Amino acid sequence: MDEPRLSTLQALLILLKARESAPKKGYYFRSWMTAKTLVSMAKDLELHDHYALHTNGGTCGFDHVECLTKTRVWQTLLIVEMMIGGPQGRLQHHRRPRVCLTGL
Ligand SMILES: [Zn+2]
Repeated sequence: MDEPRLSTLQALLILLKARESAPKKGYYFRSWMTAKTLVSMAKDLELHDHYALHTNGGTCGFDHVECLTKTRVWQTLLIVEMMIGGPQGRLQHHRRPRVCLTGL
């Protein structure tokens, strides 16, 4: 898996949510590791740069669907990181939630 795909991130997010329906021993640790992997993959895809571009008022050049998907996946990762890592005291990706004013 040299270069992740956006669809791979989406699939991992679905698996992460599915794991919640039947938590087993090690659930919290495995969920956190999945979240960390997701953030790393997202950074490989430069989703953080894409999001920053829009929050700074720039345009990316992607079609609307791809642009929206990239933005939503990055925002979802922020939520996942906070919901899984927060209660465990593991917020270490140093991302701060910001309100997107670009109308996406
Ligand atoms: Zn965009």
